[in-house]
This record gives sequence, structure tokens and C-alpha cells, in this order.
Amino acid sequence: MGINQNQFIAQFPILKQQINKYPLVYFDNAATTQKPQMVIDRISNYYTNFNSNIHRGVHHLSQKATDAYEKARISVKDFIHATSSKEIIFTKGTTDSINLLAFSFGETFLKEGDEIIVSELEHHSNIVPWQMLCERKKAKLRVIPVNDEGDLLLNEYSKLLNERTRLVAVGHVSNALGTLNPVKKIIDLAHKNKSLVLIDGAQAIAHISVNVQDLDCDFYAFSSHKMYGPMGIGVLFGKKNLLEQLQPYQGGGEMIASVSFEKTTYNELPFKFEAGTPNVADVLGLEAAIEFIQKEGIENLAVLEEEVLNYATSEFQKIDRIQIIGKAKNKVGVLSFLIDGIHPYDVGTILDQMGIAVRTGNHCAEPIMKRMGIRGTIRASFSAYNTKEEIDRFVQAIHKTIEMFG
Ligand code: PLP
Repeated sequence: MGINQNQFIAQFPILKQQINKYPLVYFDNAATTQKPQMVIDRISNYYTNFNSNIHRGVHHLSQKATDAYEKARISVKDFIHATSSKEIIFTKGTTDSINLLAFSFGETFLKEGDEIIVSELEHHSNIVPWQMLCERKKAKLRVIPVNDEGDLLLNEYSKLLNERTRLVAVGHVSNALGTLNPVKKIIDLAHKNKSLVLIDGAQAIAHISVNVQDLDCDFYAFSSHKMYGPMGIGVLFGKKNLLEQLQPYQGGGEMIASVSFEKTTYNELPFKFEAGTPNVADVLGLEAAIEFIQKEGIENLAVLEEEVLNYATSEFQKIDRIQIIGKAKNKVGVLSFLIDGIHPYDVGTILDQMGIAVRTGNHCAEPIMKRMGIRGTIRASFSAYNTKEEIDRFVQAIHKTIEMFG
């Protein structure tokens, strides 16, 4: 059962505007997706009707807000098929989730000489926290290489795994090239080696039905703002028995059971990891985004996204001076490219003048740019509200850009 794309698009008020006298074409979805009206309304409803601090209050508003917040946690649990809502920790986003894990995992499990594996494809958010941890603990960061297409070299990965490997941290989908990584296989190999696995799901969560039990990942991180939800909120999923063992990340209110100057004891999961007043409004916005995706059907959205990516790829292959960067066997939502002789920044600026929003630069993934022998790319990243007509406009705009620069 498909969806009516016009009705889908109509739910995003921001898409109705013109930029530089052209109807907006928004191809920067890997950076952040736009928000449907029901997400905007949910946040506004909270502040209009029951804004209150949660968990501590006996009064009506506080109880209502607490119930709504904890119900949203259950929605997240169901969305990613976790076994318990205790496994769902609300964070500020993927970056925050990974920093939390790097700290808590490091304090609990990492010793001098241990190893952590990341890949060459990673976003800086899934490199730097591990690098900082390795420096702190005198541990070693190992890197899975990729081939020229942008696929991870699994043979090399197998060789990296050894008795000192404590954790493997890899992305589900690459934000720079769109590579869909074989995460199930990666997890399986890690577990056979008795290593734990974090999947950075920032670029997968809006496009792929994620089932953390089926994947059997130990940790999974994602951001709400990349799945039609608000900014400033995200999730760290962790298996309950592991989260129970981890040291807390931040100290403060909410995360404690009791405090005295002699001894402080910590709260139960998931509160042990949620110090301070949480971002209630955006948790409710995230829940609305989940309902939105479920209402439309994530498989239906994926069909539209794949059609647009395939169409764009085949049209771009026909343009002489275009070089597509990232030709992995399985890709999700991203077309990264260069135009021979024209700086990506100039391309981005000209496209913007024609109402087309793309991203240019290294996409917070300098190592993969270096691996590909380039400084950056022009990246178009798609969502289900993007159409083939928009791709036609995009292709025309690229031809115009080439003409202008000669
Ligand atoms: N990981 C990947 C693969 C990403 O694409 C991004 C953002 O682009 C992040 C992590 C960081 O996400 P956030 O900025 O929402 O914390």
C-alpha cells in the first residue's frame, strides 16, 4: 500500500515557501529533516496546556507531563523494538548519546591497551568521543577501511577483531556517501569475538525499520531531528544488563536514589542516565514524529526515497562533468558528487539562488573525504517529500551552473 505523495508533502508547512522566487527544493535531509504540522502542534500543545517539571510534582500538571513523558518513552521502545522502556535513555541527540556511552563504557569497561574499532566512514561524532576516551585510558583506536566505492572491507574488519577489542562503533548508514552498512554481520562477528557493538543510527532511523532485538546490537544511537522530530532530543538504546553495569555519565537531580556527603546512590534505569530537568516538550515532539512515521508507514517512505535516489543517480550519470562519490552496493538517501572544475561551495551557492538547498563540504566526515582523495562534496540527501520533478529541476540547475562556470 503506497502513500499519496502530495498529501504527504502538504503536511510540511515549511515546504510551501519560495526561496529566491523559486519553490523551495529541500535536499538537505541528512542534516535535518523538516517537521510536519503534527509535530509542531504537539510541542506547542505541551507549552500551551501542561508545561511543568516532571517526576517530582504531586500537582496535576506535573503528573500529566510525567505521564506523557513516560508514555513517549514506551513509544520509542516500541518503535525500535527494545524489550523494555528502561533501555531507552533520552539524550540531546546522537552526539550526546555517543559521548554518554564513551564516558560510561570507558569508565566501566576499558583498560589500558584495550581496543575500540570504528570505520573510515564515520561521522566525527562517532570518532572523536572514542579518540578522547582512548587518549584518557591509553587504549587504541582501530579503523575499518573502505574500498573505492565506499563499502566497508569486512575481511579487514575480521582481521582487526582480537581479544583486546572491547567495542565496535559503526554507523548504520553513512551521512557522507549514503552507504548502508551490513550491520547485522558486523554485530555478529563482534559478538563471536565477545566484543560489544554500538550502531550510530543517525542516518538510518528515518529510512529503515530498526529492530534492535533482531540486530542484536548492544547500543543504538539516534537523533529526533533527522526523523521529522524536533532538535535537541535523541536516544541512546542499551541492553538493560549492560546499562545496569555502566557508571552514570552526569551527576545531578533525577539520577540519584539518595544523596549524602558520605555516600550517594544512583537511581534505577533509565533515570540513572538522565540528570537534570529533561527536555519534555521535545520528547513529546519525538513521539509525534514516531506516530507520523508509523501513520505513513516507514516502508512506504523508503519506496519514495529509493525512487528519487535511483532517478537522481541515473540522471546525474548522464552529465559529463559529474563524478558521483560513493557507489556502494546498498545506499540510502544520499547522492554525493563533484562537478569537474567547479568548487562545491560555488555549486551550492548557485543552487541556492535557484531555490535548491544542498550541503557542501566534508559533512563532518573528514577521514572518508581524505580516503576518497577529496576535500569535500556536494551532497543532496532525500526524504519522502522529494519528487522526480524536483530532480528534473536539480538537473537543469546543474546544467546551468556548468554553463555559467564554462
Ligand atoms: N552520526 C551521523 C551518521 C550523522 O549523520 C550525524 C549528523 O549528521 C551525527 C552522528 C550527529 O548527529 P547530531 O548532530 O544530531 O548529534
